[in-house]
Amino acid sequence: MTDDPAGRATAASAKPGPIETDGREEPRESEPPREAMQLAAAKREDLAPQRRGRGLAVVAILLGVVLLGAVGVAVWLFLQLEQANARLERQSDLIDEQHDLIEKKEAFGAAVAGIQESIEPLQGLPFASMVPWDRYQEIAETGYSSRWDAEAMDAAILVAQRAAQEMQALQSAAALEAATNASGTAWEATLDQLGRGYVATRIDDAAVTCDLVTALGCVFEAEPLVVHLNAASQSDPSMTDWIRQGVAYHEFAHVLQFTNPGATRPVLEAFDGNAETMADCYALTFLDGWTLEHEVWTSPYEGWDVNVGYGYVCDETERRLIRDWAGGLGVAMRTLSPTGSGSS
Ligand SMILES: [Zn+2]
Repeated sequence: MTDDPAGRATAASAKPGPIETDGREEPRESEPPREAMQLAAAKREDLAPQRRGRGLAVVAILLGVVLLGAVGVAVWLFLQLEQANARLERQSDLIDEQHDLIEKKEAFGAAVAGIQESIEPLQGLPFASMVPWDRYQEIAETGYSSRWDAEAMDAAILVAQRAAQEMQALQSAAALEAATNASGTAWEATLDQLGRGYVATRIDDAAVTCDLVTALGCVFEAEPLVVHLNAASQSDPSMTDWIRQGVAYHEFAHVLQFTNPGATRPVLEAFDGNAETMADCYALTFLDGWTLEHEVWTSPYEGWDVNVGYGYVCDETERRLIRDWAGGLGVAMRTLSPTGSGSS
């Protein structure tokens, strides 16, 4: 302790008591102890960060949830968009395919109409079987059954187009055949006129082709529009063009028999099933002056008796029957139907 000039003790820390200021003493309010204050402050300082931390965590969780939700919604929307795009693409593809199929269907319809048109010029021709109706009808039905298959439709269109082209080519060939006589024979001239170019004349070794040594000619059922004639008879002095013409009529009757089996059957019965006497009757009916027996003179004193045919001269009733038969023959027109219900 020291004495100041006023003689007052200044060692305030020496003992508690009123603080002297300006010579006066002021009473002091009681204060919490310094340690307690420090503890409380420390507690306050501890509690404030904890509250802030919890709040941040909640906010973070909420943000996370919101973010996850947003991502989820975005993914869902993306997937929906993808599915919608895929659906649109599929629909677009389907529309293209259907458009393609519609075009093929129209092309096929035109090809079948082409077949029908190619048959029109054959009306009136006496060769009914010349038009393969069953095959054409099958083509028309194939197109219908393939209408949902683009590749099959392409194939069906080609088949139909080729069928029409073949029929047109047949007619062009017939027109050429009718206009020319390549062999320069009475046979071909007669057959071109009777068959309008659709019947081919083949002058070959009939003895082999027809399997008959004495045959002047023949026709095969499997190849009904081809007449084979005996080449040897071309130079035979007992043969004349008149006889060759009659032989051509006889063979043409076989062409008619084979190309019109349905119409021929009842008439053939009237000839006791003999196709040869029926063919002879055809020649006797339609070739004026024709007979089955001929005298061929090579000089005023020499000649041959030539018998052509099968020895039976048909009567007037039979000739009328032959006329009716021949007049009723021909290509019967039908309408090709895609579903098989063709009409005639
Ligand atoms: Zn015959």
